[in-house]
Amino acid sequence: MLILDGKIASAAIKERLKKEVEIITGSGKRPPHLAAILVGNNGASETYVASKVKQCAEIGFVSTLIRLEETVSEEILLKHIHDLNTNDSVDGILVQLPLPKHITEQKVIEAIHPAKDVDGFHPVSAGKLVQGLPTFIPATPYGIMLMLEHYNVETKGKNAVVIGRSNIVGRPMSILLSSNIKYGNCTVTICHSHTYNLDELCSKADIVVAALGRPEFVKAHMVKEGAIVIDVGITRVEDASAKKGFRIKGDVDYAAVAPKTSAITPVPGGVGLMTIAGLLKNTLQAYRQSH
Ligand code: NAD
Repeated sequence: MLILDGKIASAAIKERLKKEVEIITGSGKRPPHLAAILVGNNGASETYVASKVKQCAEIGFVSTLIRLEETVSEEILLKHIHDLNTNDSVDGILVQLPLPKHITEQKVIEAIHPAKDVDGFHPVSAGKLVQGLPTFIPATPYGIMLMLEHYNVETKGKNAVVIGRSNIVGRPMSILLSSNIKYGNCTVTICHSHTYNLDELCSKADIVVAALGRPEFVKAHMVKEGAIVIDVGITRVEDASAKKGFRIKGDVDYAAVAPKTSAITPVPGGVGLMTIAGLLKNTLQAYRQSH
């Protein structure tokens, strides 16, 4: 069984990005610039944004973090996005989700200029993905594709089951795996909360991508011998014995499932790190497109 190690794969990608940035700055140009907006102080969001900012610095990107109060109005948030849209020194914009309930997420997603949409959530980016056109791929599915590429996992002709159909993970993942691209060409079944025979579908799959947000949902009986399992789930589960009072759990019962697989991503240390690698690659792409 091969562990698809996000630490190793993302480090290799970041090393290449760092060299590209050195070439850019060596030629006298400014480095790529990612601007992140964080609303409120959701613990998980704080951690993600801090990690994104830190990793930008590691590879020589500039980053700006705009922190807004939980009670900020939608109007003010949209004004910040507009300012970033029109700021030529900013290449990529991300608004960390989820947002407080009084803000309409879709409005915010659509306010980001498609040329700076490094999270790939804008309908223009999503539409291009569906049509197989060059675009910003949402960072998590992109990170998974980069993981498959790093470990040269053969996907062509395989049956893949994607559990979850969100716009940020499941659906774009199902599109990528079914696309006529190097690490695609799968026959994809997309499962969701209304799927009746999920266990059976899953147990026949050569590739399982679990992205539903239910800790340890995928059990050993749902996985075929030799399958490839990609665990996207990140859930904080209370655990008084843990230093922080919680543990991070994936959507796969790793201990029971891993021995049956030919390759599997751990949680933590798998897809999460690749997501940031995907975001950084998108930011460099946005920079190159505007230069
Ligand atoms: P979401 O809540 O938007 O979507 C969950 C999807 O799972 C829905 O489409 C729903 O239909 C489906 N679902 C829910 N219960 C189900 C069930 N019992 N059976 C089958 N399908 C079911 O979640 P999301 O934003 O797509 O995130 C999914 C998970 O991935 C979460 O744990 C999230 O924290 C994690 N995530 C991880 C990363 C990363 O970088 N590793 C990035 C984004 C999200």
